[in-house]
Amino acid sequence: MSQAPTRRDYYDVLGVPRDADDATIKKAFRRLARELHPDVNKDDPAAEEKFKEAAEAYEVLSDAERRATYDRYGHEGLRSGGYAPNFESFGSMSDLFEAFFGGGLGGAFGGGRSGPIQGADIQVSAEVSLVEAAHGAPVELSFDAVVTCEHCHGNGAEPGTPIETCPKCQGTGTLRTVARTLIGQVMSTTTCDQCGGEGKVAVSPCQTCHGRGRVSANQKVSVDIPAGIADGQRIRVSGRGHAGERGGPPGDLYVLVRVREDQRFVRDGDDLVTAVDISGPQAALGVHVEVPTLDGAQPLEVPAGTQPHDTLVLRGQGMPSLRGRRHGDLRVVINVVTPRNLSHAQRKLFEQLSESLTEENLHSDEGVFAKLRRALHHR
Ligand SMILES: [Zn+2]
Ligand SMILES: [Zn+2]
Repeated sequence: MSQAPTRRDYYDVLGVPRDADDATIKKAFRRLARELHPDVNKDDPAAEEKFKEAAEAYEVLSDAERRATYDRYGHEGLRSGGYAPNFESFGSMSDLFEAFFGGGLGGAFGGGRSGPIQGADIQVSAEVSLVEAAHGAPVELSFDAVVTCEHCHGNGAEPGTPIETCPKCQGTGTLRTVARTLIGQVMSTTTCDQCGGEGKVAVSPCQTCHGRGRVSANQKVSVDIPAGIADGQRIRVSGRGHAGERGGPPGDLYVLVRVREDQRFVRDGDDLVTAVDISGPQAALGVHVEVPTLDGAQPLEVPAGTQPHDTLVLRGQGMPSLRGRRHGDLRVVINVVTPRNLSHAQRKLFEQLSESLTEENLHSDEGVFAKLRRALHHR
């Protein structure tokens, strides 16, 4: 009946019994939130969806009226009662956490002073030819990244000048505020804007980085594209992203590989597919042709009696497999071309040939379905 996607039971989502009290529900949600936090779950794209699901369950079960409606009428009852979760308006997971907990995990989970922060990841793309993708190739990448300032070694002070306790936060690195959030009034801690959470400020800020301790600089990185890579795959280069803050590790560099189309081949997994034209008479008589391969042209014998769209397979002449030593195949589709624009003499020959053909010449074991499948598959 309902067009909405199947929703999980809110109690199951939070992993609490149906008679759980408020404290149990709150505890369960915090535990989930801690597990699903973006800082912990950088590589899990499902974490955000799971968090939204948990947030929605919490939003309902922590509200006595909504919970009662849900207990009696389920998801359907909530929707007809006008409840709609709206987490899409939050730009990112961090914003969502901010709304629930204020000040991120520090505010929610009793942390204090902000600690080291890992640098953000960087994504760059690299384009290679199909032949390069088949054999593997080194690629030189050039991109801008935030790096630690060499002049002040990242502490933000002109060399030889003192660093003092931040007057705004008295060295704690955080400022406390009371904020109205989805779960009521929450004491939240935000990072001090004067010292950036450092707790210390430079008396004479570094002139190179203006006290930030980090600067943007062009980076050159050489990456080996592995043999067998496919278009759209990403390579992770650990630690080559933006520099971290407050002693945190750098982020990672992701290289999005684009494989250029090759005029000679279509790729099908590890297999390559190509097509060669032969004439109708050649198909009847058999012919030697040259087919393109990744390592140059190769001779191929097309046997007498070849039918349109018959496929000949060159084993192991496809792409190497990314994992293991297996190679795909090269499939050669034979495209039989019926001659056009016949001269008078040619026409005579075809007429003679046509008259001479018997049932024996045109016999095929294929039924109509096999013929159709062959024709439709190769359109
Ligand atoms: Zn500096
Ligand atoms: Zn401060």
